[in-house]
Amino acid sequence: MKLADTHCHIDSDRYDEDRENILKEIEGNLEFAVNIGYDLDSSKRSIELADRHDFMYAVVGVHPTDIKGYNDELEDQLEELAGHPKVVAIGEIGLDYHWMKDEKEEQKTVFRRQLELAKRVNKPVVIHTRDATHDTLEILKEYPEIKGIVHCYPGSYESAVEIMDNYYFGVGGVITFKNARKLVEAVSKIPLDRLVIETDSPYLTPTPFRGKRNHPIYVEHIARKIAEIKEISYEEVVRVTTENAKKIYGI
Ligand SMILES: [Zn+2]
Repeated sequence: MKLADTHCHIDSDRYDEDRENILKEIEGNLEFAVNIGYDLDSSKRSIELADRHDFMYAVVGVHPTDIKGYNDELEDQLEELAGHPKVVAIGEIGLDYHWMKDEKEEQKTVFRRQLELAKRVNKPVVIHTRDATHDTLEILKEYPEIKGIVHCYPGSYESAVEIMDNYYFGVGGVITFKNARKLVEAVSKIPLDRLVIETDSPYLTPTPFRGKRNHPIYVEHIARKIAEIKEISYEEVVRVTTENAKKIYGI
């Protein structure tokens, strides 16, 4: 068993020059990778990647900072895309009060609408939450039938416990940063069978490549850090986190 990258954006124009190489790296080194949409166009690009490569899967949805223009028609199109056989979840959806403080109510409305959509199409969700942990958890708790991944989990262990029955927690490059003390503590306490690994490529590049463009194959550095924090073998981290990813995405 190999690692999986449960969250990346390989459709980004930062891979325009060498996307085929990135895809070869994934094919040669990972079990699979999941490309995540953040608006309608990136959702379509995610499906194109998944259509062309058996090791790629797609997630479709509208990110909280891209909700301008979200309407019935767009939602219908998303719902149609969600029916594609390689679409494994709805996302990334959620709340972001860091970049957008003024539209909290609009963000909540669109978040709930996409949770309803996930319920209709019977798929899990990929959650983005930034500076909004409390409101995000409150809304997720309104939908106890929905399962998913909280991507790049920013909260505490205590917050994680509140939704741990339904959610996995995505750990990315931030865990390798020097100032990640709070996250290290959360990851040390959250059981391994609730963790999945992600790069969020091209963003959040782990040490020792911090500052450069990220690659999905860098999941290895994240897995090694988790093994170190939890004092378990690298192989166990690989096996359990990949099984977790397969389970939640239905792969
Ligand atoms: Zn992302």
